[in-house]
Amino acid sequence: MIIFDSGYSDNYDGPGTRLIFYLKGCNFRCDWCGAPESISPQPEILRYPERTITVGHEITVGEIVRKARKARSFINGVTFGGGEPTLQIAELLEALRLLREAKIHTAMESNASTPGFRDAAMMVDFLYADLKTLELERFRQRVSPNVALLELCKDNLRFAAQHQPSFTVRIPVVSGLNDDLPAQQKLHEFLLELLSLRPQEELHVELLRQHHLAEPKYMALGRESACRDVQPPPRENLEQFVVRLRKDHINAVCFG
Ligand code: SF4
Repeated sequence: MIIFDSGYSDNYDGPGTRLIFYLKGCNFRCDWCGAPESISPQPEILRYPERTITVGHEITVGEIVRKARKARSFINGVTFGGGEPTLQIAELLEALRLLREAKIHTAMESNASTPGFRDAAMMVDFLYADLKTLELERFRQRVSPNVALLELCKDNLRFAAQHQPSFTVRIPVVSGLNDDLPAQQKLHEFLLELLSLRPQEELHVELLRQHHLAEPKYMALGRESACRDVQPPPRENLEQFVVRLRKDHINAVCFG
C-alpha cells in the first residue's frame, strides 16, 4: 500500500481517537483539493523554503495491523483516507479484514467513485463518502473530465445509504461549485432520496467549508492552485444550508 502520511486525529475521521493512514493516488482532480500531494500515486518532492520532503512510501498491510495493535490502548480505531483509498482495493480489503479479526474498529473516507467502493463500504464499521456536485458541467470542469463517474458516485452513495448503518455524507462547500441555491437544492433533493433509502437510520451530513490551508503545499509542489484567489463561501451559507436540511430531518452539521 502506498501512503503519503499517517497520524492521529480526534473525532473528525471517525468516532474517537483514530490512527489514520492517508493512501496516495486519486482518480479525481478537484481544483480546491486540500491535499494536492495525495493525487499522484507516485512519490513526490515538496520543496518548502525551510526544508524539502518526499511524500509517498510503501507500507505493508502487516505493518498497518502491527501499528494498530500497538496503539490499541489509546485509539478507538483505524481510518483510511486519501487520496482515494479504494484505488488500492486489494490491500485495503486485506487490511480491513485483519483489523476486523483483531477486533479493531475501522473507518474509511472515500470519494465514492470506484467499482471497489462497495466492497470496502461493506467491510468498514464507519463510512464517510463525498458528494461534491450534481451538475455535469461543473463536475467535468472542476472534479473530473470523466463525467461517467458522477453516475457511479450517485449509485455508490445509494448503495451505501442502503447497506451501511454508520454512514456520513461529506459535502465540500466550494465557491462556484455548490454555494448557490439551485446547486444546493439539487444536493438537498438527492440527500432526501438517500434518506428515503434508510427507513431505520438517520442520514448524517457534514458540510465542509472550502479553505486555503493547502496553499503552501501547492507552492512546495511547484503547482498553481486554481482556487488561490477565490474566497471561500461565507460561513452563513453553510449554516443556512444546514437549517434547510435539518427541516427535512437530515442530520446536518457544518465545519470550517
Ligand atoms: S477526491 Fe479528495 S483527494 Fe481526490 S482530488 Fe478531490 S479533494 Fe483531492
